Amino acid sequence: MSVLPLVFYPDARLAQPCTAIGDEDLSDLIADMFDTMYAAPGRGLAGPQVGVMKRVFVMDCTWKEGTKTPLAFLNPEIIAASTNEDTQDEGCLSIPGVMVPVVRPTEITVRWKDAHGTVQEQSFDGFEARCIQHEMDHLDGRVTLDHLSEVARADILKGYVAP
Ligand code: ZN
Repeated sequence: MSVLPLVFYPDARLAQPCTAIGDEDLSDLIADMFDTMYAAPGRGLAGPQVGVMKRVFVMDCTWKEGTKTPLAFLNPEIIAASTNEDTQDEGCLSIPGVMVPVVRPTEITVRWKDAHGTVQEQSFDGFEARCIQHEMDHLDGRVTLDHLSEVARADILKGYVAP
């Protein structure tokens, strides 16, 4: 298990869509992604953020409050989303120090394969719903900044220097 180097905006890999996962064994990669996410420290981490262009992300929305709920998502799909939306500022480990207001549905239903290859389906709301949508954006080559107009994006990036 090891902490992987992070990919930072504007690295081109953060703008590339990822490929679907087949039968390959990703258990070592997933363990490393959790190590990397906890070390960062963050609550979600997607493949492209460590240079892996595959449809995988890890998430743990509660560990900072003292209870670990690690979840690994392979080939995730949003199969339903609420019409109700809200706007929250989102940070991203790949764009350190930059908070971007993003509008998203408040409740989603997701189908995915877990680390053991078992298909899961579950509804999420609140911070978890937002985190999942943020990480799934990464799998489609989108970052928080892509939710902004060009003017707003240039403004919010003033003073940003990639680490
Ligand atoms: Zn991110």
